[in-house]
Amino acid sequence: MATLELKNLHAEVAEEGGETILRGVDLEVSSGEIHALMGPNGSGKSTTAKIIAGHPAYEVTEGEVLIHLGADEFGEDFDIPEEKRTWDLLDLEPNERAALGVFLAFQYPAEIEGVTMVNFLRTALNAKLEEREELFEDEDEEAEAEAEATNEDAAGYESSPMEGPADEGEVGVAEFQELLAEKMEQLDMDERFAQRYLNAGFSGGEKKQNEVLQAAILEPSVAVLDEIDSGLDIDRLQDVSRGINALRDETGTGILQITHYQRILDYVEPDHVHIMLDGQVVKSGGPELAEQLEDEGYDWIREEAFEAA
Ligand code: ADP
Ligand code: MG
Ligand code: MG
Repeated sequence: MATLELKNLHAEVAEEGGETILRGVDLEVSSGEIHALMGPNGSGKSTTAKIIAGHPAYEVTEGEVLIHLGADEFGEDFDIPEEKRTWDLLDLEPNERAALGVFLAFQYPAEIEGVTMVNFLRTALNAKLEEREELFEDEDEEAEAEAEATNEDAAGYESSPMEGPADEGEVGVAEFQELLAEKMEQLDMDERFAQRYLNAGFSGGEKKQNEVLQAAILEPSVAVLDEIDSGLDIDRLQDVSRGINALRDETGTGILQITHYQRILDYVEPDHVHIMLDGQVVKSGGPELAEQLEDEGYDWIREEAFEAA
């Protein structure tokens, strides 16, 4: 099991005299759990997601974003030593965060010319696996790997990430095709999708569906999904929701579902609901909290939070 933990997170816009946006966010999402993060526009939900992703527009002034990994989080064959089970994501590059099992939709380019979905996804998966190997390599292995890399350079070896046979530890083309077919079936997606060029001419709904497919392939410990429900018609919303549920049920991914609207929560039922107001999580509860919000809006929470302060 893994847990993403936001601890007293404070952040401001990264510029001279930048506005303070987050004022002490506390939040924990573990594998297998679905959390909804709700709140009015401008409360700091997207900022929270972007900071988890490592967006450079924000400066964290206090607090931590931790990932706690179980010993066998990456499988029985991948032993995670005690001293490498907790990481502060704020010290790491976005690709390293992804390698530790945190999925953020922002890390993907909107459109790349001439790259099919299948090639893009295989490249993304292999990049993640390679980065993970590097993060967990001990010092001896590190020196060895460096020597190896130097030899490859000297031999004029050119690695193309998009094609060619798989390197050691990589997922090869045939194996990947199988994995992709399995995931697409889980998500009820059309096979032809995989041969299309990345995001080129994709509808809004298809892009969202793709985002879920990317997550299914990368098998993250925790996925942060920011307004994946925005602009979807009801059919597509149901498709995307089925994908998110499969991600939790089949992969055991913990989901942080950020949404302004209650609608998607009818299909992706949260175990926990958190309300963000003015840069803080001011209230947490079960699914009934989302229903109460739909009926009564945010005013009563504002009053409650205000009274307490
Ligand atoms: P939410 O996703 O809850 O609607 P955001 O996190 O997008 O809220 O924004 C929270 C507040 O921070 C808003 O008032 C927004 O205008 C402000 N904000 C967010 N990002 C920036 C930025 N890069 N520069 C200036 N203000 C920002
Ligand atoms: Mg938060
Ligand atoms: Mg937002």
